[in-house]
Amino acid sequence: MHELYIAQNIKTSMEQYILENGLNSIKVIHLKLGEMSMVVPELVVENFDIIKKGSKLKDTVLKFEKVPIRIKCNDCKKEGYLKLSTICCPYCSSMNIEIISGDQFFIDCIEY
Ligand SMILES: [Zn+2]
Repeated sequence: MHELYIAQNIKTSMEQYILENGLNSIKVIHLKLGEMSMVVPELVVENFDIIKKGSKLKDTVLKFEKVPIRIKCNDCKKEGYLKLSTICCPYCSSMNIEIISGDQFFIDCIEY
């Protein structure tokens, strides 16, 4: 039910945004989706479509952009992109890595 929780969060924060900015509705919500966040976009849309009914977000469309997992290696000091199935540096195979981006899920921008 992770995705329902996310859909509810989007709805709550966007309704707040509509209120604060005196808008009538929002056309598109662009979301950044880190590959590591394990969120299924289709399920977020499905849940959002159900809960948005009757609200000011009833015609709002969600759009997702995937963000690859970017890491920094603490051993060879290189930066690179991680493949989803691996957890080591793509250059030296060290597991002493830091994730720079790709583990988050957030609202990027809004069209209204
Ligand atoms: Zn490395």
